[in-house]
Amino acid sequence: MTVCWLNGQIVPREKATVSIFDHGVLYGDGVFEGIRFYNNRVFRLESHLQRLHDSAAALALDMPFSLEQLAIAITDVIEAFHLADGYIRLVITRGEGRLGINPFNCSTPTVFIIADELALVEDSIKAEGAKLIVASIRRTPSSSLEPRIKSLNYLNNIQALMEAKYANADEAIMLNHEGKIAEGSADNVFIVKNNIVKTPPTIDGALEGITRGVVIDVARELGLTMLECSLTPYDIYTADECFLTGTGMELLPVREIDGRSIAHCPGETYQKIYHGFRGLIERETASLFC
Ligand code: PMP
Repeated sequence: MTVCWLNGQIVPREKATVSIFDHGVLYGDGVFEGIRFYNNRVFRLESHLQRLHDSAAALALDMPFSLEQLAIAITDVIEAFHLADGYIRLVITRGEGRLGINPFNCSTPTVFIIADELALVEDSIKAEGAKLIVASIRRTPSSSLEPRIKSLNYLNNIQALMEAKYANADEAIMLNHEGKIAEGSADNVFIVKNNIVKTPPTIDGALEGITRGVVIDVARELGLTMLECSLTPYDIYTADECFLTGTGMELLPVREIDGRSIAHCPGETYQKIYHGFRGLIERETASLFC
């Protein structure tokens, strides 16, 4: 059963409600994290809390709880959850305010944490690879909304995902205003070409994904050449391999984009990195008592 924590305490699901005057609801004014736990232990908790802190700081959103308090709250929520593996959503909104957008009218930020079962990627997609399109809608330019801020504003990404669904695809790749690849609608993008692993730099419009960071480290530890460099759709169309990364999906191989088949899916390099990534999760979230 879902576990909900609201402003300092675990509450029954039906009591886990926010005000219709909350600026998170009215304007998407807030930040969040999507976090995964395995074996009752969070994977890369510090990285998620740091990103949350930075997102809030960038928006001058005062966090009413310290990162230590939030870490304890997450532990409490996981303890109350019925499964050892699951997903945590941690949200901080600007809080209740008047009807204008002015954030300085809001009193205290609203903080909530939800533990829920993972919406797993279908086994067939995980095994055979995802089908992608390049969305026509572009990623909001970083001069308008810094992509490193994990904010509650996802309309841009939602519209890209809708394009994918209308085209019977699994996911959409978003380009920035210069036609360079930014990221997926809720994931980061990697390709492999001539044994070089490449991912777009965050300056091209990507969120600094926690999984992306881990994959970059794993690839380097495996001795692979890893580059953060600008990519265009041509680079994916002609890639040897392509895969997506995100907290929920972990790593997802790509089999097709805009009707072009990716040469290898799942490719050898993907499989090496995936095994390295899984090994790391198992080591970092192993039971303390075995
Ligand atoms: N980009 C966007 C826009 C996302 O929403 C996410 C997932 N929250 C990611 C990338 C992947 O980030 P992470 O690996 O931290 O889940």
